[in-house]
Amino acid sequence: MSRMSEWLANGLLITDGAWGTELQARGLPPGTMPDTWNLTHPEHVEAVARGYVDAGSQVILTNTFRANAIAMHGCSEDDLDAINRTGVALSRRAAGEVLVFASIGPTGKMLLSGEIDSEQVAAAFTAQSRSLAAAGADALIMETMSDIEEARLAVAAARRTGLPVIASFAFDSGKNKDRTMMGATPETVAEAMVEAGADAVGANCGIGVEQAVPICRRLHAACDLPIWIKPNAGLPTMEGTAIRYGTSAEFFASHYAALREAGASFLGGCCGSTPEFIRALAGAQRAAL
Ligand SMILES: [Zn+2]
Repeated sequence: MSRMSEWLANGLLITDGAWGTELQARGLPPGTMPDTWNLTHPEHVEAVARGYVDAGSQVILTNTFRANAIAMHGCSEDDLDAINRTGVALSRRAAGEVLVFASIGPTGKMLLSGEIDSEQVAAAFTAQSRSLAAAGADALIMETMSDIEEARLAVAAARRTGLPVIASFAFDSGKNKDRTMMGATPETVAEAMVEAGADAVGANCGIGVEQAVPICRRLHAACDLPIWIKPNAGLPTMEGTAIRYGTSAEFFASHYAALREAGASFLGGCCGSTPEFIRALAGAQRAAL
């Protein structure tokens, strides 16, 4: 049995919520790369991880979303390696029995525009994947992807570590908000990620938990892979200088059954979600047993 099917043998796993907003709540200044806090403020990063473990997460991620050589250009190779390794170590220290899936985000540059080429992208994801795997991550998760080509390169690089690989896309564009920024539908994404050899496929960020239900259903119908779902706590609005998310933890968790029926195997929250959201999801899971 694959590691992925062993993990999912007892049903859906609750993952974690947002990290950025939790770090900001602990004093991360706007404009600071959150990943650098692994080295400068490790106690705060570990506290975020612990907050999710205490709330009932069965899988937590790492504070390494931007720690690739393209998104953090100017950062030395050694520093990137240290940020990635420390990110895994901090989550691991908080995790106990909980699984640690290491987070890999997009490069932030567009292949299609020629800003970067595929060799640079492959090299950046290869280096990051190696650091995360060497530090003992249980799996690698590419999050908030919008370009299928970039995700293919990321999955190929991550697979060479031998760890299970999850590819998750942000569906927030198009008339029905069911496409990635690059125009890919859930069906196209599922097919491409099966072909790329991903062990699970999914949707994170996006426009909220209600819209995640049909996206989840479509991903599930389009392939046999486990489905990873982490919606935003609604769309952000600005209140003065503060960013607010409209969805409450209760409203979010009230979609637990719908998302499980739609085929979700991993369920958590993205931007704006907090440990309170995870506690509410874990409560909904207990109530459904
Ligand atoms: Zn998000």
